[in-house]
Amino acid sequence: MSTQFDQIADKVLAGTPASEADALAVLQAPDFELMSIVAAAGRLRREHFGNTVKVNYLVNLKSGLCPENCNYCSQARGSEADILKYSYLSKDDAIAQAGAGLKGGASRVCMVSSGRGPSNKDIDKVVEMTEAIKDEYEGVEVCACLGLLKDGQAERLKAAGVDAYNHNINTAESNHDNIVQTHTYADRVDTIGKAKSAGLSPCSGLIAGLGESDEQLVEALFALKALESDSIPVNFLMPFDGTPYENTWELSPQRCLKILAMARFVCPDKEIRIAGGREMHLRSLQGQALHVANSIFLGDYLTSTGQDARDDLEMIRDNGFVILGQENAFNDGTFDEVFNAPRGGHAHAAATTTPCGSSAGSACGDGCGGCTALNPEAKAAEAAEAVDPHKPVIRRRGAGTEVPANA
Ligand code: SF4
Repeated sequence: MSTQFDQIADKVLAGTPASEADALAVLQAPDFELMSIVAAAGRLRREHFGNTVKVNYLVNLKSGLCPENCNYCSQARGSEADILKYSYLSKDDAIAQAGAGLKGGASRVCMVSSGRGPSNKDIDKVVEMTEAIKDEYEGVEVCACLGLLKDGQAERLKAAGVDAYNHNINTAESNHDNIVQTHTYADRVDTIGKAKSAGLSPCSGLIAGLGESDEQLVEALFALKALESDSIPVNFLMPFDGTPYENTWELSPQRCLKILAMARFVCPDKEIRIAGGREMHLRSLQGQALHVANSIFLGDYLTSTGQDARDDLEMIRDNGFVILGQENAFNDGTFDEVFNAPRGGHAHAAATTTPCGSSAGSACGDGCGGCTALNPEAKAAEAAEAVDPHKPVIRRRGAGTEVPANA
């Protein structure tokens, strides 16, 4: 029997865009319709992206110390979240961090910096890093996310080989001033326009769970469609202690899945990326979400941990998908060491090495200080932070630390 959602999919596949009413119907459908929604949205996903999942890897080049007051952000002015704080990574560190993600299956590196926007010296640094990463890793895509751009900066990034620029609108224009006051929605749109004009692929998405109404979520998605965002990261609010959204919890796994499906119906041929908050909000529905979205971040986020990179890879494989750009990797042994490692071994994948020099992904038994899986104190600290499933676990590995990345 054809469902209401199949009919929307039929219409979209035939070339008629989904309407705002269609989007709202998806968002407000009863939970027992969830699998019908996934099945219908999955048809659009397969039409445009087949069985591939794009894997992206975040490198937080500069963490915290931001003068802006985005209420949702652990790096914001006034945030008391106990996050890692550091200024720009060196070029060598940035390359090493990017390499960990690329060896773990990522095809795009997202180089992110906190702050209102980059100085021209910051652009110099990102230009150098990009050129070095592109020299070392053939075919890698680089996305920069450095805040509000000034005239000429996007062109410099493009000339250096940067492929895409991320700047999220985050929420509907009608909700924007409730979540940040130090810059405007128009400022954000201006930067997306600058990136696009310079020939960078625009990447812009949203954060759900910021007190927005259903109608405002629809408004935000249609704004992203109008902005022609090529990739749309859909974040789910991670309520960091020490931020204004501490203890805020508005989402359910079912709602998150409907939001992703709505994004697919509205923007059927765009990269829909399940971004921050995936694990804590989708919980057991992460795998189903891959049947709607076609892109994820591998491993950790900017200031919080993600699930083990091995679990990301397993989720892709177990749901019948392949990694974009490495379509045979699950069959040719690329990740055998990761998949065959005993549970409770290193938290990161085979492609990285631990400080003691052994291959990660299997327990080396050395008890090196860098590996949380083998370091009782680090493991205890991580476990203590992980007790409340509604609270993000602060990232204490990867960029800005001596500890191997979760990739
Ligand atoms: S989102 Fe970006 S601009 Fe806003 S506070 Fe966080 S780092 Fe700063």
